[in-house]
Amino acid sequence: MPRTYSGIREQREYTDTYLDLAGSSLQIEQDFKKKCIKNADRTFSQSYQCQELNSISALLSVNDAVLIAHAPQGCVGCITMGADMYRVAQIHRGAEKITSPKILITNLDQSDVIMGGEGKLRESIRLASERYKPKLIFVFTSCASGIIGDDVDAIVREAQPDTEALIVPVHCDGFRSKICASGYDAAFIAISKFVLKGAVPKKEKGLINLFAPMTVSFADQLEIEKLLRRIGLKSNFLPFFSDYDKVLNIPNAEASTSICKVFADEFMKDIEHDFGIPYAHTVMPVGIRNTDKWYRAIAEITGKGDEVEEIIATEHARIQPELDKIKLKLQGKSVFICGGTGRSFAAATLIDDFGMKLLGIETPVYDLDAQDDIAFLNDIHGDYLIDVANMLPFEQVNIVNKLKPDVFIGVPSWSSRFGIPTTHILDPKRPTMGYDGIVWLGNKIAAQIENPGFNKKLSKYARLPYRESWYDEDPFKFIKEVI
Ligand code: SF4
Repeated sequence: MPRTYSGIREQREYTDTYLDLAGSSLQIEQDFKKKCIKNADRTFSQSYQCQELNSISALLSVNDAVLIAHAPQGCVGCITMGADMYRVAQIHRGAEKITSPKILITNLDQSDVIMGGEGKLRESIRLASERYKPKLIFVFTSCASGIIGDDVDAIVREAQPDTEALIVPVHCDGFRSKICASGYDAAFIAISKFVLKGAVPKKEKGLINLFAPMTVSFADQLEIEKLLRRIGLKSNFLPFFSDYDKVLNIPNAEASTSICKVFADEFMKDIEHDFGIPYAHTVMPVGIRNTDKWYRAIAEITGKGDEVEEIIATEHARIQPELDKIKLKLQGKSVFICGGTGRSFAAATLIDDFGMKLLGIETPVYDLDAQDDIAFLNDIHGDYLIDVANMLPFEQVNIVNKLKPDVFIGVPSWSSRFGIPTTHILDPKRPTMGYDGIVWLGNKIAAQIENPGFNKKLSKYARLPYRESWYDEDPFKFIKEVI
């Protein structure tokens, strides 16, 4: 029997999921436990990241693939950021010739919305095949293709016999889910169904599927691969910078793990179900607690517990003198954190390594996984503010203005204009994960706090687009209970 996960996170049966929620962390933890969080919605919302973007970004750098977005041009606007990251990542990996991702857009327009856009998709598949001779062609759906009812699967079936590449439809119409991580699921469901279906595994002892989204830098890849190598494990790092063969190698692994808790978590269940591969689903290995937890989880399913405990003890002793120095600069500083599910909670545990105090956290989803992290964070930081929001800068600026943290960790575009130090725990060049990552991030946060000059100037000359009166309002006034 195949597993029947729909790919839409809101529909998962085993966990309640909340997207419009805010308040005290202690209260939310209690309410979730008692199952008495009321359903709510926002009566006003700014635009948020859609799942199509995550589907495309997950597969953007698979080397032998061409991507076709069956969509209006605007849907792939954000992919320019992914394309940039891909090019920069090639430089970090020492590539001599830097290439762009191969993306075609069918450019659905008004007339296609009335007459149908199937002809454009057929033509794009033919073009992709002729022009690039890929091994894989991924076809991404969009809101527009879904609303007009283009039968993408039928077109793929029809085109497949005349196309050398394997054509893989990815159903990621943006309106299907408000949880953008559903986009990752759509990409992996497509891989399960079209690439791995019927594969007969040839088990390779010690091979680990190491799933990572494209925000994981080469430095972090090396850091995490090093941790696995130290306990005799070899990584199949994917899908970022992977290729068709690495994807085909997935069923041969001894075990799987992921670097982000919402990336490939459902897919790891699929491949356990289909190929009997056990998996470790834990946390992003950022900060001492998370790195230890991540490392112990993979050790447990591969029988490497003793080796890992020895390494953890050595690593703690090695970095402790550095942590003591960082603590002198950061102890007691207050923090507001905004980030995706994996990184926001990782950052909140990381700051405890430096004795910093959490004032508030903005994260896109509250579910059972989040509850685990929040319970842990409540024990350390006591009560703080939780805002469950997918970006929504209008809420963020209101909260940050009220809380006045010593430092903001997350995408700094808005909060930097208050003149407070801002930083983030992403870094394209240096490790943010594993034990070296802790030291690097601690120094990075300290450097920002010691050098707030840029943001101070910004606060003088760049204004936020909100009226002063907004800052007196309740930031959550648009969250209304749904009766
Ligand atoms: S797929 Fe839908 S939600 Fe996503 S960018 Fe296109 S129109 Fe917007």
